[in-house]
Amino acid sequence: MSQPDLMLRHVNLPDGRVDVDVAVRDGRIVGIGPALPGEAHETVDGGGMLLSPPFVDVHFHMDATLSYGLPRVNASGTLLEGIALWGELKPLLTQEALIERAMAYCDWAAARGLLAIRTHVDTCDPRLLAVEALLEVKRRVAPWIDLQLVAFPQDGVLRYDPARDHPGCRDSALDLLRKALDLGVDVVGGIPHFERTMDAGRESVRLLAEEAARRGLRIDMHCDETDDPMSRHIETLAFETHRLGLQGRVNGSHLTSMHSMDNYYVSKLIPLIAESGVSATANPLINITIQGRHDTYPKRRGMTRVPELLAAGVTVAFGHDCVMDPWYSLGSGDMLEVAHMGLHVAQMTGQQAMRQCFAAVTEAPAAIMGLEGYGLAEGCHADFVLLQARDPIEAIRLRAARLGVWRRGRLISRTAPATAQLHLPGRPSQVDWLAARRG
Ligand SMILES: [Zn+2]
Repeated sequence: MSQPDLMLRHVNLPDGRVDVDVAVRDGRIVGIGPALPGEAHETVDGGGMLLSPPFVDVHFHMDATLSYGLPRVNASGTLLEGIALWGELKPLLTQEALIERAMAYCDWAAARGLLAIRTHVDTCDPRLLAVEALLEVKRRVAPWIDLQLVAFPQDGVLRYDPARDHPGCRDSALDLLRKALDLGVDVVGGIPHFERTMDAGRESVRLLAEEAARRGLRIDMHCDETDDPMSRHIETLAFETHRLGLQGRVNGSHLTSMHSMDNYYVSKLIPLIAESGVSATANPLINITIQGRHDTYPKRRGMTRVPELLAAGVTVAFGHDCVMDPWYSLGSGDMLEVAHMGLHVAQMTGQQAMRQCFAAVTEAPAAIMGLEGYGLAEGCHADFVLLQARDPIEAIRLRAARLGVWRRGRLISRTAPATAQLHLPGRPSQVDWLAARRG
């Protein structure tokens, strides 16, 4: 065997293995185990820190990111003002500005070790401006980020009338979505709870699922992002997935109405989701701030039933959804912040549950996106992140620094360790907040 290009020594892995070496050649992992023999062209001492596969965000809106304050800020902080604000911003967008903001976000993502993103892109625009811009961004960042695009009819595939905004436009919203798919958008989206009626919502799910089945594409719908317990479009989505044989290729995003649903109904619904092979994505930062806004007290959390879905065998991911856009003024592309919030909102404080929260921003979304060669095993792409933490729980606790980020075996970002210098009598000169090692 020829010499590896890169050897990372003394790293811990998310599955609990400690003091492992990882050898890389030609952009792939060629060896992983304790005390690997031989020398590489370059060796990095991991110092007992956690080496993780890259973070993955399976729910994002890159056409809106970093637009906070354009043309004005969301004064109420609500979902509906956010959607209205996006409507005001859309006619003012230019392709150059959109590409520039998305590229800037991808820089943030790379520095955070976030190397795969599924982003929705609004197709309710006869110019398909954002679609063309994000296809260009996808091409540009491909060497360092896997970008998957979802054709997302933000204003409803049945509700939106393109001729209203653009007199003379003969396309329907479905035509625009199909054009986006023809241009190379990867995944079929939808927003059934935003259609005018429950029936229209159901009809939109059926139409879009059939479109995906015809084209052999994956589906990712904004589904039931409401506190209305009667919003049950996830039931239709699971049914259509089963009917059309799309198991393993369909994701329900948000599913916040499940928080408020009747328990008896949910006891039927969760097995249907599991048996249909539909995955779920919660967006904890957004769900906890957007949902429950009509409540006084008690105030609902509005995040979907994550531990219960996991217990039924459903693949569940946590997405970021928004960073500095009309809906959310915070965020920096840090999926550990997302996992941290998800852990708290879902009260997933048990040891295994906390590890599941780490998997919800790594392995689970990678599976939902269908990423090839993802993971830390021989034959996988040499894509990984060295964190300033010894295990996944500590990584979440500290929102650990990304000491190094590698893509295809090449270092693409480095962050200095987080430490503070102390000036206290009789105390250590430095702290890094890592747990003291026992034994
Ligand atoms: Zn979203």
